[in-house]
Amino acid sequence: MGRLDIKRLVKDNVRSLHPYEVKAYPCDIKLDANESPYPLTLSPRVRSEFNRVLRVLNRYPDPEARRLRGALSRTLKVRIDNILHGNGSDELIYYLITTFGGPVMYPVPTFSMYGVIAQALGEERIEVPLDRDFDIDVDRILTAIRRHRPKLIFLSSPNNPTGNCFSQERILEIIEYTSHHPSLVVIDEAYQPFSKKGSLVHFIRNYGNVLIMRTLSKIGLAALRVGFIIAQEDIIREVNKVRLPFNLNSISQAVALAIMKDSETVRSNINMITSERRRLFLEMQQIDGIHPYPSDANFILFRAERVDAIFNGLIKKGILIRNMKGAVDGCLRVTVGTPRENTIFLNTLKELSG
Ligand code: PMP
Repeated sequence: MGRLDIKRLVKDNVRSLHPYEVKAYPCDIKLDANESPYPLTLSPRVRSEFNRVLRVLNRYPDPEARRLRGALSRTLKVRIDNILHGNGSDELIYYLITTFGGPVMYPVPTFSMYGVIAQALGEERIEVPLDRDFDIDVDRILTAIRRHRPKLIFLSSPNNPTGNCFSQERILEIIEYTSHHPSLVVIDEAYQPFSKKGSLVHFIRNYGNVLIMRTLSKIGLAALRVGFIIAQEDIIREVNKVRLPFNLNSISQAVALAIMKDSETVRSNINMITSERRRLFLEMQQIDGIHPYPSDANFILFRAERVDAIFNGLIKKGILIRNMKGAVDGCLRVTVGTPRENTIFLNTLKELSG
């Protein structure tokens, strides 16, 4: 029987994509994926929620995630109809681009999934370089908006992988401009809990073209895959049309809800991470040849002279970070770990840079 050349059947835009692969390096110290280093312990409340769900695994989850969205709406002080839940914010990026289409615009370097999903869905991507300080280049982006009329503009603030928040005035300039030349501005606040600069969620009251995207992945619940967007009702209603009915499983809904009620631990873990971020930054600054960039997130981007040698040298010592080759050449990104992990990382980095 002849062998089918399956690639001939695949859509052009998918053929040229690469699957999201994370090469498996057997490392004890995992500082590559911007996760929280602190597993959230199951309090009796969480445990009993978990057990309750385990008794009804024969039933579909609540398609509307009402209890979870209700709790989020009280925390965020918005109405439940202003919130849409996703299987991680990745899924919501998919839904947004499915709903509105392209062109899809975003500054670069930034989170890769905006571009990957736009390409997977066959939509045009417009990438606009950030300025030298990794802030939005307003003139360039407004010119690009005029020229390309994007449907969606993704702004990750704090930005992955650079770590900084974009300046609020510049974000506002884009929002103001696009409220007259319709584009939707999605402010991805995945790392906002680690920043002193406040959330921009209140913008949704005054601007009908703003969406805020959040996730529980960075604050200790990456395995649950819970993300959500907050926007005016008419936007939520449209995006909800493309949402798969049972996109958020029952265990994730129940455990996220129960853990939200124990928010003290989440908060103290965040405080620990931000204080360790400061220590990491200050100590990295002292190492010859290492130039860390200030961060509002739970990771630090740094420039180094021998990026590959450092990356491989760390792996040999069981420490995995992210080599940013291709996205920000000459840079590496390290996630803030526990104090012990950070100390081991710093000592090894000193040895490798000596
Ligand atoms: N946005 C940004 C900026 C991210 O860095 C990430 C995760 N790396 C995500 C969204 C996706 O998060 P989630 O786990 O909610 O899909």
